[in-house]
Order: sequence, then structure tokens, then C-alpha cells
Amino acid sequence: MTITDFPTTASGVRSPIPDLHAPSPGERALAAARFQLAEASRFLGLDDGMHHMLATPRRSLTVSVPVRREDGRLEVVQGHRVQHNLSRGPAKGGIRFHPATDLAEVTALAMWMTWKCALVGIPYGGAKGGVAVDPAALTPRELERVTRRYVNEILPLIGPEKDIPAPDVGTDEQTMAWIMDTYSANAGYSVPGVVTGKPTALGGSLGRAGATSRGVQIAALQALTRSPEGATVAVQGFGKVGALAAQYLADAGCRVVAVSDAGGAVVRSSGLDVAALRAHAAETGSVHGYRDADPLSRDELLELDVDVLVPAALEGVITADNAPRVRARLVVEGANGPTTPEADLILAGNGATVVPDILANAGGVIVSYLEWVQNTQAYSWSAGEVEVKLRDLMENAYRAVAELAAERGLTLRQAAHAIGVGRVAEAHRMRGLYP
Ligand code: NAD
Repeated sequence: MTITDFPTTASGVRSPIPDLHAPSPGERALAAARFQLAEASRFLGLDDGMHHMLATPRRSLTVSVPVRREDGRLEVVQGHRVQHNLSRGPAKGGIRFHPATDLAEVTALAMWMTWKCALVGIPYGGAKGGVAVDPAALTPRELERVTRRYVNEILPLIGPEKDIPAPDVGTDEQTMAWIMDTYSANAGYSVPGVVTGKPTALGGSLGRAGATSRGVQIAALQALTRSPEGATVAVQGFGKVGALAAQYLADAGCRVVAVSDAGGAVVRSSGLDVAALRAHAAETGSVHGYRDADPLSRDELLELDVDVLVPAALEGVITADNAPRVRARLVVEGANGPTTPEADLILAGNGATVVPDILANAGGVIVSYLEWVQNTQAYSWSAGEVEVKLRDLMENAYRAVAELAAERGLTLRQAAHAIGVGRVAEAHRMRGLYP
């Protein structure tokens, strides 16, 4: 990637809509991230130099990860770690294990992390990692080998003061434990603060496992213009974020009527028993086949007539094609980048409110930050203390975004980006350029 790849400028010309036909989903995600940055740059009046600096990742590392399969074969997969911006503190961002992940996707996700950390006011820059593997196709031992070798390859970049990974799609507490162990073995002593989302036995924070979903619930309840009691909800993606978001929204009185995952979708208009569904998914690996509901196509779920739609799977699922049929009044983005810029325009035109990813799913990085603070102080907080701090940071960020949006006639996404990008640009200005 070079600066000349950026098709947009901050100097007054409305940014072109990104190319929907870009070759890979990752490139489409990066086009969307750049479009959002260009809009924010124009709103903030940033000059072209600052815009280009913010559009350019600070460092990108692509590595080959050789893995010995159980049958003795050697396979090589690609991994990436992108540090998008370090102006406000160490880089922070999850690691994704997914067969379709590529450098462009990881770059987009890293850029969104930069704005998200700035928006919620935690002292981090943005990063992301990815390995192009399907974790479901590997044995646990193979997965451990991939993880450790990938970490070994990106070792020069990461560290508690440099870049702190966390879970994302396809990775979990166990992955984080292997990362901590690999890093610590190389350092010669235990370094719990190198990674967050660890098991509590290794210094993981209470409340981290459900933090992103708790944040989604907080954001949804802030944005709902009606009582949560009986409000209908559909959730796309029933993994770490989606399953607990469904649970917490049900706990708040909402009626979760439909959920989906890669294996299928289920619907029950009188409301799903989310706890029973989670038990079914834990046992079978999917919501598919759950008895107390009807099957539904995964695409139909996005178009249900519900109060709240929570996309909590992957990028680019609400597009110009299906946005005209999205009937939810409120979309709360548990996933990163689920709505394309074209779809954003259509949803706004239809009067739907979208709580954007960098706000709605920030609960995860907030509690990751709290975990890192606890690790660096060798101290731990109770679940209640963590929850209070999470709620405070989420509600403050939501309020700031909603106020700016109302004052300046922006969508919540435009306002969230204006705040996040503005804080990062300010940090750059104050630090100046070296040399
Ligand atoms: P996960 O791997 O735990 O779950 C992903 C879920 O999406 C799975 O249930 C999978 O089956 C489902 N899925 C995949 N393709 C689908 C499709 N076409 N239709 C319906 N469902 C599909 O991942 P996660 O950690 O829950 O992450 C989900 C999203 O949330 C990602 O965009 C991620 O970047 C974002 N996010 C995660 C965290 C976190 O703390 N884990 C924090 C912030 C944002």
C-alpha cells in the first residue's frame, strides 16, 4: 500500500463511495474504513498531509507460519500484525484466526481500533492481527503450534509497552494463554500484561469474557427510544460477542426472536430461551437444529421486522443490496465494519439509527485496558468494580457521540469518527514530527 492508493482527499471534494467490487472482502473493509476517515478528516478540516498520515498504518508485518499437521505434513499459512497508530500509547487490538483474513482486512480493523480507543478515552493506539487459518479445521495441538509460531514471528512488535493483542474472531482465552506463555518463555519471566482476554488464572480480568457484549447491551439500551421490556431483537453471529449480547439483552427484558451463526439461523416470534440456545450451541457447535424454534435463512435474519438488529459476525453484511429491506429501527454493531458506507446512507435515509462499531463494541477493549492496568499494577479488581468502570466509559462515550451528532446533524458513526479521529490528530499535532 502506498499513499497514492488513497483515492480521497480532505480538501473539500466529497469522497467517492468505495468500490463495492474490490476483489476481497478485506479490501472492501479497508475502502470503507478509508471512506469514514476521509469524511471525518473533511469535517475536522484536517489538511491532506494529516489525512494521509492517519490513513497509513505505522507498521505492517506479514509472516509465514509453518505448521506441522498431525499426519506429518508441513503447511504454511500467512499471518499479519498491523500497528495502525501509536500516537496516544501502545498499540492495542485483537488477533483473528479466519481463512479469509488478509492484510487489507487486518489494516482496516487496526484503523478502527485507533479511533475506538481514542473515542472511549483509553491511552492506546490501534492494532490488529490475523492468521489465515480455519481454527475449526485444526486439532487443538495444531492450533497451539500455529499460535506459538505466529507469536514467535511477531515477537519484535508486541509487548506490554508496545502492542497488546486480545481475542477476536476464531481466538479465545486459551489462545491468549498460549500467547502469554510464548512471550514469557522468550522473556524468561512471566509477562501477563502482554496480552488481554486471558483466563483469570493467568491474570485475566473479571468481566472481560462478557465485556464486549455488556458494552453492546449498554449502547443498545442508551439508543433505544422505547422501553427494553418486550423490545424485539435479532442477533447475527452467536460467538463470543453475539451469544452474550443476546443473553444480556434478554436479561434487560428484550425479546430475542432470532439468532444466526455460520451453521444456520433460528427464529421464534414469542422469544427464544437464550440460555437454552447457548447450551445447545455449546454442545453441537451451532444454533442450527435447536428444537424450540423454527429454522430461518441467515440472510432473512437481517431483514426481520425487529426493534434492534445486532450484527455480531463479520464485516460487510449490510450492503446496498439488502439495506433497503432492513426493517430494524436500531442497528447496534457488535461486529467491526458490518455496514458498508452505501448501506449506511440507505439506513439513515430510512430513518434507522446505527450505533457504530467503534462505539457499540468498545466494551471489549475497555475491559482489556482495565485488565492491562491490573496486570501492570499486579493487583485485581472485583467484578463489580470492573463493571462500574466499563459502564462509565461506555456511557460517557455514548453521550459525547450523541451530543455531537445532535448538535451538528451527523449520524452516530460520523460523530464517533469525528471525535476519535480528532483526538488522534490532536495527539499528532502536540507531539510534532521527528526529526
Ligand atoms: P467468534 O469467532 O467468537 O464468533 C463469530 C460468530 O459469527 C460465530 O458464531 C460464527 O459462526 C458467526 N458467523 C460467521 N459467519 C457468519 C454468517 N455468515 N452468518 C451468521 N453468523 C456467522 O468472534 P467474536 O469474537 O464474537 O467476534 C465477532 C465480531 O465482533 C467480529 O467482527 C469482531 O471483530 C467483533 N469484536 C469482537 C470483540 C471481542 O472481544 N471478541 C471485541 C470487539 C469487536
